[in-house]
Amino acid sequence: MHLIFLGPPGVGKGTQAKKVCEHYKIIHLSTGEILRKEISDKSEVGNQAKTYIDNGNLVPDNVILRIIENRLKANDAQHGYLLDGFPRTINQAEGLQKTMLQLKHKINSVISLTANEEELILRLINRGKDSGRSDESPEIIRHRQKVYWRQTAPLLEYYNEKKVLKKVDGLGNITDITKRILETID
Ligand code: ADP
Repeated sequence: MHLIFLGPPGVGKGTQAKKVCEHYKIIHLSTGEILRKEISDKSEVGNQAKTYIDNGNLVPDNVILRIIENRLKANDAQHGYLLDGFPRTINQAEGLQKTMLQLKHKINSVISLTANEEELILRLINRGKDSGRSDESPEIIRHRQKVYWRQTAPLLEYYNEKKVLKKVDGLGNITDITKRILETID
């Protein structure tokens, strides 16, 4: 099983991704989590990424693509995975397609989680109070939303044309949303 989760910041991708991964026994790959770990380890990649993340901008495609390529080739990724927060640009999606083709992996579904923007900003501002993340001030949150609509939302049409896109309403309680996602995939 190879899944991709798309959706604006705050829609609950991370929470739902964990549940869906438990269900299918696949690994959860969150590029945001990977990058935050690199930053706390003060690795070279982490140092390169930090300013972009703190300002709510995307880390350059070549940095992310290198990370993902290595990650997808690892042994533990040969039994399926869910990509959360990647791809985020058309260029990343094209890089992903190449890597997956080499590895003979095929995308089963791209789940687009949807919700209204004002609700998302409120959720993120609340989460920002105790997340400890450096990119969760109200100003940076609004900027991340803009970046999503400008750079990532075009992927909805890209995957729709490939007939793998499935939209799921991301509002409601956590268990109901997980059920909706699993029904959509099966
Ligand atoms: P959210 O979905 O709430 O925006 P993430 O944890 O997915 O949070 O991402 C946090 C930040 O990490 C992004 O704002 C961006 O700077 C960086 N990032 C994560 N994934 C990518 C990616 N695929 N390409 C570029 N930057 C990324």
